[in-house]
Amino acid sequence: MRRRHFLGAAGGLAIAGCASIAPKPSSLAESSSAPSPSPTASVSTPPSTSVTATAAATPSASAESSASATGLLAGTNHNVAAKAYAYPAQSVQSWLRQGAKAPDYPTEKIAFLTIDDGPSANRTSDVLDLLKQLGVPATYFYIVGPLGVQHVDRAIPLRALAEGHALAIHTWSHSYKVLYPGRIGNLANITADYDKAYQAMRDLLGPDYVTHASRYPGGHMSWKNLAPADAALEQRGLYWLDWNTEIGDGEQKAPPNGAAAVTFFANTLKAAGNPNVVVVLMHDAEGATLINGALPGVVKMLKAAGYKFGVIA
Ligand SMILES: [Zn+2]
Repeated sequence: MRRRHFLGAAGGLAIAGCASIAPKPSSLAESSSAPSPSPTASVSTPPSTSVTATAAATPSASAESSASATGLLAGTNHNVAAKAYAYPAQSVQSWLRQGAKAPDYPTEKIAFLTIDDGPSANRTSDVLDLLKQLGVPATYFYIVGPLGVQHVDRAIPLRALAEGHALAIHTWSHSYKVLYPGRIGNLANITADYDKAYQAMRDLLGPDYVTHASRYPGGHMSWKNLAPADAALEQRGLYWLDWNTEIGDGEQKAPPNGAAAVTFFANTLKAAGNPNVVVVLMHDAEGATLINGALPGVVKMLKAAGYKFGVIA
C-alpha cells in the first residue's frame, strides 16, 4: 500500500490517513465471531447505486420487523435498505490486504466511499446532501467522542443511517499520543478507546448496533506493534480497514481544490492498479473542505469505470 505522510491531528505526528482536526472549544480531546456474508451481500448482487431508490425498495417482512425505532437493522451498522449493498468488514479487509489473491475476491468492481473524522456540525449535512444527489452510499468512520458524535446533534448520524449509509467506528479520542505513544500501539489504551466508542454508538443507536468495521486513526499502516490490538479488536468482532485510494484531503500538502483532489484520486486509483475493490479515503471533519468539490468527480469516474457502490458492515 502506498504510504504518504502529513500532519496528523493531536500531537503533530507525521502520519498517514487523517486530516488535521481542529479541536473545538468544547473539546476534551485528550481525554464475535467472523461475520458471515448475508445472502444479499454477495458480490453477485446487482449494484445499487442509488441510495434514494434503494431506500424506497420494500424490505422483507422479517428484515422490517428487526429494524429498530432509529431505522437500524438489528445486528448491523446500517438500515434495512442498505442490506442490499452491505459487505462484511472481514471480507473487505481480506480484499484490501490480499487483493486478487483473496479467495473470494470479487469479479465485479465495487467501490467503498469511506469518510473519516466526522460527524461535524457544519460539513456532514452538506456531504449527505451531495451523496443523496449522487445516489451513492458511504461508510462513515466516526469519531465518537467530543471531536465528533458527542459534538453534533444526534439528528446528523440518524440522518446518515436513514439515508442508507453505514456507521462504523474510527475512534473515541483520535489521540495519537494516547493510542500510539512513541508510535507504538498501546493495547490497553486502544481497547479502552474502542470500547468507549462502541458503547457510545450503542447509546446513540440502541443495543442492537453492531459493526465489524473499524479504522485506526492514522491508519494501520502508520504505527508499530498493532498485532495485539488487532487481535483484541477481532475478539470484539472488529476488523481494521485501511484504504487503497484517496482524494488527498488528509495530506500535509493537500490538493488545492476539488478538481485537483479528483486528479489526486485518479492517480491513486491508477497506482493501485485499478483494482476491483476500491476503498476511497475522504474526510468530513469540520475543517475538511475538499470532499464536497471532489465527490461528484470521483463518483462520476468510478461509475464510468463500471464500479458499483457498497458499504462496509
Ligand atoms: Zn482520522
